[in-house]
Amino acid sequence: MLETVVPIVGAALTAVVATLLVYYNARGPRPRLVRQWGQRPVVRVPYGSPISVGLVQSAIDWWTVRGAPMVHQVSIGGHDIPKPGEIVVTLIDQGVPDHAGGMTRWTTLDSTGLMISATVLVPNDVSFLVLIHELGHALGFEHVSGHHVMNARIERVTQNDRGIREAFEASELRLS
Ligand SMILES: [Zn+2]
Repeated sequence: MLETVVPIVGAALTAVVATLLVYYNARGPRPRLVRQWGQRPVVRVPYGSPISVGLVQSAIDWWTVRGAPMVHQVSIGGHDIPKPGEIVVTLIDQGVPDHAGGMTRWTTLDSTGLMISATVLVPNDVSFLVLIHELGHALGFEHVSGHHVMNARIERVTQNDRGIREAFEASELRLS
């Protein structure tokens, strides 16, 4: 009897936990868009960079289909320093990466608080998940708990995009 009941209870518990996890991933906390751009940023990969341009383009595609106000086409060339309106994706050389495995720096205009440029620093073997996570910071998102693209810890970074589209739609700035 017990040999039958234990697996059934175990299976039922597993199903309950799986359901709760699906529910949490769909209904859990949403990331806040804490900074905004004054223009649609273009993402650029400098000349001679070992970062895959194709991977960067895929990451841009991931964001633009979710409503990110950014230029759809990756730009190639130039040096490591971003010009106004640019997000440069380049190799991490120094500094402590965030727990997700990369690092993003940005500059804002003091008078408006709007972002004017950003630098995404990643290792040369960067994964797609780390790239979309760091681009999320470059677009103005902060970390959020639960399995999500903006979770702070690499083992919990997924393609879960809960709240992303709504955050862009709710942003005050309407970029043309
Ligand atoms: Zn992060």
